[in-house]
Amino acid sequence: MSLATTDIALPVADHAACSACALCLLVCPIWRQTRDIELTPLGCSKALQRGAPIEDLAATAQWCNLCGACAPVCPERIDLVGMMRSVRRRLRLDSNEAELATATAREPLVAQSAVRSRLGPGDLLVIEPRSYHADYERRVKVYDELRRETGCMLNLDLQRIAIPARLPVPADYADACDYLAQARWIVQGFKIQRIVVEDPADRGVFERLGAWPVMSVDELAKETR
Ligand code: SF4
Ligand code: SF4
Repeated sequence: MSLATTDIALPVADHAACSACALCLLVCPIWRQTRDIELTPLGCSKALQRGAPIEDLAATAQWCNLCGACAPVCPERIDLVGMMRSVRRRLRLDSNEAELATATAREPLVAQSAVRSRLGPGDLLVIEPRSYHADYERRVKVYDELRRETGCMLNLDLQRIAIPARLPVPADYADACDYLAQARWIVQGFKIQRIVVEDPADRGVFERLGAWPVMSVDELAKETR
């Protein structure tokens, strides 16, 4: 199956369809940080296929930040975010469901022309990945147009998968996680003058890099009023 983004269809299958192709590892920030297969969509699918007790998936569910980057690359069209959310619910770890619902319902402020006019080629716009991937087919066009119109940079990889800025860090793993590695991965290779974050919660991680001014799209929108 082609991986061209224009061919990507909505996820329809469940964990039983996992063929262990490992494509989801390429985009999963948890794999990049831990290199632990059990914490990935592949590991989770395989565990569910062999009927592992749900308690064995607790670490997987805790690490996953529900960024949604894995689902668009899955050639079997597995609803990987749905799978992770289901595991979280079964483990009663669904405390961020409300936050997720808010994030995915949010219309991007950058769709407003007044906000777009404040962005330029020196800006790295950090897309909020959960809303982007939840509405991937529509939003990929919005952000492609934004990039063409303003010349700004985006936290997208070559397949136009949005790279999440923040990682959840379960207490048991805190020592093993390099909090800033994710941010360094995102800024790598760009000539940046300013970082603009869609999700204000992403601000802290980029400010800690200490190299560029950081502001949120909300602040940009206020400047236009
Ligand atoms: S939703 Fe994000 S963090 Fe979770 S498994 Fe998929 S790519 Fe990894
Ligand atoms: S991309 Fe899909 S089919 Fe491939 S390993 Fe990941 S979950 Fe399984």
